[in-house]
Amino acid sequence: MAKTDIGPPNFRTLIPKVVEKNYGQWKYHEYVKPGVLKHVAESGDALYSIRCGSPKLVSTDFIRDLCDIADKYCEGHLRFTSRYNPEFLTTKKENIEPIIKAINKLGLPVGGTGKVISNMIHTQGWIHCHSAATDASGLVKAIMDEMYPYFIGEKTLPHKLKLSLACCINMCGAIHATDLAVVGVHTHIPNVDDQKLGALCEIPTTLASCPTGAIRRHPDKDVKSVTVNADKCMYCGNCYTVCPAMPIASPEHDGVAIYAGGKCANARSAPKFSRLIIPYIPNNPPRWPEVTGVLKKIVETYAEDGRPYERVGEWIDRIGWEKFFDLTGLPFTEYHIDDFKYARTTYRTTTQFKW
Ligand code: SF4
Ligand code: SF4
Repeated sequence: MAKTDIGPPNFRTLIPKVVEKNYGQWKYHEYVKPGVLKHVAESGDALYSIRCGSPKLVSTDFIRDLCDIADKYCEGHLRFTSRYNPEFLTTKKENIEPIIKAINKLGLPVGGTGKVISNMIHTQGWIHCHSAATDASGLVKAIMDEMYPYFIGEKTLPHKLKLSLACCINMCGAIHATDLAVVGVHTHIPNVDDQKLGALCEIPTTLASCPTGAIRRHPDKDVKSVTVNADKCMYCGNCYTVCPAMPIASPEHDGVAIYAGGKCANARSAPKFSRLIIPYIPNNPPRWPEVTGVLKKIVETYAEDGRPYERVGEWIDRIGWEKFFDLTGLPFTEYHIDDFKYARTTYRTTTQFKW
């Protein structure tokens, strides 16, 4: 690694000694109990990981509390998984229970390993991002409260299930390849503020920001503003990122769409993109009962009907989409039909139907 004064330090200086010693030579892992895995190296060394659930947006005090546990039991080492699960690593079996006790004392659940649901990844939501069509932290809290038995291992699934949420179609939350995903959607064109637009925005940049060419100069040359062709607008919100005089968020029209069946793993079958299963559910804060209800129904149906080690997408592939809509009781509408110009490649083009 180049020696410069910028960028992160070499990660090898940050990992536990046992991980460095056995780097690339970990042989297998065992499921000890919910949230606890035992990793065994070729050399016979063992490392225990204890995983817990956590919110994504946290305070420095919260991080300090986690660091105190890591200092006391893990020689100062603490890691976060790609789904923001804090994970404590220890070589001492006798440290497992004290770590779990300390985690529980912070009010955090231990779990998320094995055939369960781990932390839900999400984006910024109303707390931080200007484009949000739905909240992130609030909606994720409501969803994970429903999924709690599946996190702590009280209930299990055919295989692991990953949940994610992106609060607009910019999709910082990588919802395109998870088992079940929620994405915020705007359903109304931006509201152009003719008074402010001239002072706040550059017209050429604003016109260029629209991927569908829906924005045109205002027909009155004396008005320094733009108009939006509603038939061409796909409610992406890109123009608002460029021009703050075109807000698109709307308490009446914003909501979420739900996707299913994606995965990144190469195991058994190729990685898959998630597919649309519900085009629109209006926002209903603070607990979004319609969204949590439908996700719970899908998870329960998968728990009942999925075969061991089948991910959600593999389960749907086996039973067919018709049966999926049938079993989950979700309506199939014209909005499910992909009308993008390259959609044909995604269509089923044989006469074989699975019933
Ligand atoms: Fe902002 Fe959209 Fe990313 Fe959410 S998904 S943080 S609204 S850009
Ligand atoms: Fe164009 Fe998207 Fe703005 Fe609609 S929301 S006008 S499609 S940039």
